[in-house]
Amino acid sequence: MTDPRAAVSSDGRGLCACCAHVRVVTSARGSSFVMCGLSRTDERFAKYPRLPVLACVGFEGRGPSREAQGHQR
Ligand code: SF4
Repeated sequence: MTDPRAAVSSDGRGLCACCAHVRVVTSARGSSFVMCGLSRTDERFAKYPRLPVLACVGFEGRGPSREAQGHQR
């Protein structure tokens, strides 16, 4: 059976792949896991969500990167 927190290199992350709250944790063995940043402050969210996440009330799309915005002040 496959670990639902499995490697982020696959396309199986669903919404987490483009969510502003996602964190990627890399173990000492080099495995990568998807961690939900909202889990630190909201118990509705699992620390390591079952992937792929297809619907999520906490989803927030990532905006353009600061580099893409040209660091304007
Ligand atoms: S808020 Fe939802 S979509 Fe975003 S990282 Fe957490 S579980 Fe994934």
